[in-house]
Amino acid sequence: MIKAVRGTRDLLPPDTALWNFVEATVRDVFRAYNFHEIRTPIFESTELFARGVGEETDIVAKEMFTWEDRGRAESDKGQSLTLRPENTAGIVRAYIEHKMWDRGLNKFFSIGPMFRRERPQKGRYRQFFQIDAEIIGPPSVGSESPARDAEILELVTTLLDRVGIAGWTLELNSVGCPADRVKFNEALRAALHPVVGKMCADCQRRAITNPLRVLDCKVPEDQPIIETLPRISQFLDEACRTHFEQVKEILNAVGIPYTLNERLVRGLDYYTRTAFEFTHGALGAQNAILGGGRYDGLAEALGSPQPAPGIGFAIGEDRLVLSLAATAESVQRKPDVYIAPLGAGMDREAAKLARELRRSNKDLVVELGDESFRKLKKSFEAADKMGARYILIVGENEVKADAFALKHLATGQQVTVPRAELAKRIAHANGA
Ligand code: AMP
Repeated sequence: MIKAVRGTRDLLPPDTALWNFVEATVRDVFRAYNFHEIRTPIFESTELFARGVGEETDIVAKEMFTWEDRGRAESDKGQSLTLRPENTAGIVRAYIEHKMWDRGLNKFFSIGPMFRRERPQKGRYRQFFQIDAEIIGPPSVGSESPARDAEILELVTTLLDRVGIAGWTLELNSVGCPADRVKFNEALRAALHPVVGKMCADCQRRAITNPLRVLDCKVPEDQPIIETLPRISQFLDEACRTHFEQVKEILNAVGIPYTLNERLVRGLDYYTRTAFEFTHGALGAQNAILGGGRYDGLAEALGSPQPAPGIGFAIGEDRLVLSLAATAESVQRKPDVYIAPLGAGMDREAAKLARELRRSNKDLVVELGDESFRKLKKSFEAADKMGARYILIVGENEVKADAFALKHLATGQQVTVPRAELAKRIAHANGA
């Protein structure tokens, strides 16, 4: 038997109803905030992620699905390609490629699969889905404003409320601008020098290549040492400090609770200033539902001829669905009516009726049976199994009378309904 590859999974009904519910809800929220959908390719040139996400990050160093293109054309040959591990770099690439600075402030969202070769466990997959949002544009249209950071964070809380996730925590930090980071990195290096020998192998490597990443370390034995390290807040320059204060002031004014977490540096190198994560207790070890932050220098790092500050987030949709209180059963639509052809030649009549019902009311869910069942009992069993509200019997007598037996399955009540009134009658009980 051929099975799905490790770390990938099939999403099956009824669970897909939950996924669709989430996606329909977030689309509504994005529309209300004037965000528009962008769809970028699921593979890009490897260089984009190396430059955009950072060579030293776990994602680029260990987790990417990368291959060399086998194309015959000279332009393809040997090109290194990668399945996208995240979507900000791709969206910023598209922003630059299509010169979208001419459009003013861009507010994008996107929904789709990402790929990382991580060790699979509950809530962590090699193909997973993210819901992304990004605000990006030239500084002249306010892309740098703390109002945008606060708007993005407020949007997230509305989105979580609408899909029905309570009990989240917003962890917030400012990682400063690149100059602050240089000073902070130096201070970290100096502080790590005498103690790093006692830390894990990853920290020993990071202490040299990218000391900021040491703050990400989850190894329990390293935590007491990490607690003694310098804090980023001591290194923020005046502009970054003021920016962060303003973000917090707006959050306070609109009533969004947050927790400051100075160790929150996030796994991607491009973040500047505001960095955040939303966590949810019910998720266990993989408790981050979403993360994001500001990336003011990313567009220029990727070759933009002019600055394009931005801020965004990525929700782990798999984890969002895992933490929903709603069940697939509660959101999956069941058939309003099961049409049961009874006797030879009745498939034709049933097909006609199904077509009429489906076309007269687009909200009706109509399931069509099969005359080969012969016995009505079999149709009743099928209708019951799929949770249909009504069964509609299509036999020779009904066709002659042009009125049909409609039975409500839960109450057993049966009425004869003229053809012209069927759709209305079925929809009525349902509110459809
Ligand atoms: P990141 O792009 O690393 O900031 O991740 C943003 C969000 O994507 C995280 O908070 C997770 O909810 C989700 N996520 C990241 N990696 C995975 C994965 N391997 N499997 C499932 N969800 C993931």
